[in-house]
Amino acid sequence: MSRLARTLCSLHGLLGIWLAYCTVQQFRYGEAWAAIVFAAASIVPVISVVRESELADEQQAEAIRAETEARRLAWADEDAAALARAELAAACCELWWTSTGEDHEATCPKNDHRSAA
Ligand SMILES: [Zn+2]
Repeated sequence: MSRLARTLCSLHGLLGIWLAYCTVQQFRYGEAWAAIVFAAASIVPVISVVRESELADEQQAEAIRAETEARRLAWADEDAAALARAELAAACCELWWTSTGEDHEATCPKNDHRSAA
């Protein structure tokens, strides 16, 4: 939960306590309908705290999901780079590599395959 969310939850908690106090005071010294309104209103901050907690949980789950996906993609990139390095190391000569296997350089030890064809 972020600092802002914690601050909001604290403010909602204080508001809930204040509304509960107003409810008690209205029951004791005021009008019954006003006490009922204050009691109903004091539920709203509780709902807000619950909702804020749910949002924080969803944000944390999304952050974990994004980090997991980024790590997976980083591993895939690393695997592709390793495969490319292995293929480059296995290439017999540069001309063969750049001509997609059609021709070999004159100094390539595998150049004799082309001349036999
Ligand atoms: Zn070659």
